[in-house]
Amino acid sequence: MILLNGKKTSDLIKEEISQEVLDIIKNGDRPPHLAAILVGDNPASLTYVSAKVKACDKVGFQSSLIKLHHDVSEEDLISHVDNLNKNVDIDGFIVQLPLPNHINEKKILEKISPHKDVDGFHPINFGKMCLDIPCFIPATPFGIVELLRRYNLDLDGKNCVVLGRSHIVGTPISILLSKNKKIGNCTVTLAHSKTKNIKHICNNADIIISAIGKPNFITEDMVKDGVVIVDVGINRVKSNKTKSGWKLVGDVDFENVSNKCSYITPVPGGVGPMTIVSLLKNTLLAKKNVFS
Ligand code: NAP
Repeated sequence: MILLNGKKTSDLIKEEISQEVLDIIKNGDRPPHLAAILVGDNPASLTYVSAKVKACDKVGFQSSLIKLHHDVSEEDLISHVDNLNKNVDIDGFIVQLPLPNHINEKKILEKISPHKDVDGFHPINFGKMCLDIPCFIPATPFGIVELLRRYNLDLDGKNCVVLGRSHIVGTPISILLSKNKKIGNCTVTLAHSKTKNIKHICNNADIIISAIGKPNFITEDMVKDGVVIVDVGINRVKSNKTKSGWKLVGDVDFENVSNKCSYITPVPGGVGPMTIVSLLKNTLLAKKNVFS
């Protein structure tokens, strides 16, 4: 079994990005600048945004964090989005999800300029991705594709099962892996909570991408020998082995399943760091106006 080491791979990509930042500065330009809007005080969101800001520092990007109160009105949030759209010193920005219930998430995402939409959630970017037109790809699927590419996996004609159909992970990765590309050309099955016979479907899979958010969902009896598994899930479970009393695990029963895999991502240290570095890559692309 070979670990698909997202931490190591993302560190390498960060070094490549840092070098590009130095070149930009050497040419007399300013470094890329990523902004993030955070609404409320959801601890998980705060952790994710802090990690993104820290990653910006690491590669020499500028970053700005706009923290808004949980009760902020939809109108006020839209005016913050408009300001960032107009601010020529900001190359790209994200609105950290989820948003509070009184705010219409789709409406907010549509207000982000597609040219600054480094999360790739705007319908224009999502549509372009489906049509193979160069655009910002959502960070998690972008990171998964890059991880598989860097490990030189041959996916041609393989049966790939994607578990979960969210707009940010499951649906886009199912589209990307079915494309006529080197990291693609899979025959993709997209499973969700209404899918019947998931065990049978997974048993047939050469590659499983799991984005469900349920610890130990994928068990030994669900996978065949030699399977490639990308575990996107991030679940906090109780542990008596850590100081905090908690630990992070994915969707896969790693201890028992990993022995059967040819490749598998760990959690933590797999898809998570690849997601963050892909956001940095998108910001660099925004700075270079690649899609304008
Ligand atoms: P989400 O929006 O909650 O979607 C979960 C998906 O799983 C839904 O499509 C749901 O089906 C499906 N599902 C739930 N129970 C199922 C079951 N028993 N059998 C089959 N499908 C089932 O989740 P998400 O935002 O995509 O996130 C998924 C997981 O990935 C979470 O743990 C999240 O924290 C993690 N995540 C990690 C990263 C990273 O960087 N590593 C990034 C994003 C998300 P229905 O559509 O039918 O409800």
